[in-house]
Amino acid sequence: SRRFQLTAYPAGEPTLDNFELVETELSDPGENEFLVQNEWLSVDPYMRGRMREGDSYVAPFQIGEPLEGACVGKVIASKHGEFSAGDYVLGNQGWRDTWISDGTGVTKVDPEAAPLSAYLSIMGMTGMTAYVGTLKIGGLQPGDRVFVSAASGAVGSIVCQIAKIKGCYVVGSAGSQAKIDWLKDKAGIDAAFNYREVDDVSAALQQHAPEGIDLYFDNVGGDHLQAALDNMNDHGRIVCCGMISTYNDKTPQPGPANLFKIITKRLRMQGFLVFDHIDMQAEFQQQMGEWVKAGNVHWEETVTTGLENTPAAFLDLFQGNKMGKAVVQVNP
Ligand code: NDP
Repeated sequence: SRRFQLTAYPAGEPTLDNFELVETELSDPGENEFLVQNEWLSVDPYMRGRMREGDSYVAPFQIGEPLEGACVGKVIASKHGEFSAGDYVLGNQGWRDTWISDGTGVTKVDPEAAPLSAYLSIMGMTGMTAYVGTLKIGGLQPGDRVFVSAASGAVGSIVCQIAKIKGCYVVGSAGSQAKIDWLKDKAGIDAAFNYREVDDVSAALQQHAPEGIDLYFDNVGGDHLQAALDNMNDHGRIVCCGMISTYNDKTPQPGPANLFKIITKRLRMQGFLVFDHIDMQAEFQQQMGEWVKAGNVHWEETVTTGLENTPAAFLDLFQGNKMGKAVVQVNP
């Protein structure tokens, strides 16, 4: 089995040297175990949070232990009652090509119902983050004026389209002209701007949402959060989903200088973790499945090929070198 592990915790922006590919011998599956060959791996921004010491909501990765992450693979040998050779499964044993499991935390997926990679994107954790964050945490209402940062990303692109389905005015920010074009032409949002090309995110947002913002879906933090606070309407809501602009900071950045606007505008800001909302999974799968079937939701995947290129795909998340959900195809 080939698997990635950390050589050291990254200081600041991770680099390829922080990762090493090692080979280990896998024994045959024992009683009540099965062997899986991974086909698709997920790389996600939250993994950066596990690449440092200290407490967080998930334990840090251990140096010299295999990295983890969502993956979809095929069972190739089994001595387990519920999983048979030929089954496709979703697990958390990413960053490697093969693994043995007793079934804990592993679910079967149907390769006929959706392309396998979709279980890591639109039909998986990222689609569900968009669904829970927008509808439950954000309490999205028809007619809301919605701002989404990292709008062309895995979560953001779905948030934008849920808001359009619900009859909202949607403005997004993203880091390239190709992403802006996609947001307007494919996702069908009302306005979008390239935050790398504006001097002042707040002024750009004001220009693209002159009637203000009722709901801000924050994937970025930092200057985007400050810009949203400037442009929020009274009684607006801010969904704190992620703050990717801070994940590689060596020392904490100063917070937004305008937090007092939370008071004067009577805002509600709420963070959430998708894992706490597993009770919504069946509803999410049903509703998202319908939207996808009806062609109401488009999603993009950027596919990196070859297990050995997984760290590069991960690093690209922080450069924005991809569209939609970043996935790795293990053996193209
Ligand atoms: P994305 O697919 O959106 O990838 C990250 C994107 O962030 C990049 O493509 C890049 O796009 C943008 N980005 C990177 N650095 C910066 C920066 N400094 N300023 C502005 N934009 C930046 O990732 P996901 O959709 O998987 O995740 C989006 C956010 O949601 C993350 O913050 C993540 O941590 C969070 N998340 C939270 C969950 C929860 O349960 N709360 C669950 C899943 C994700 P661009 O070219 O536009 O800059």
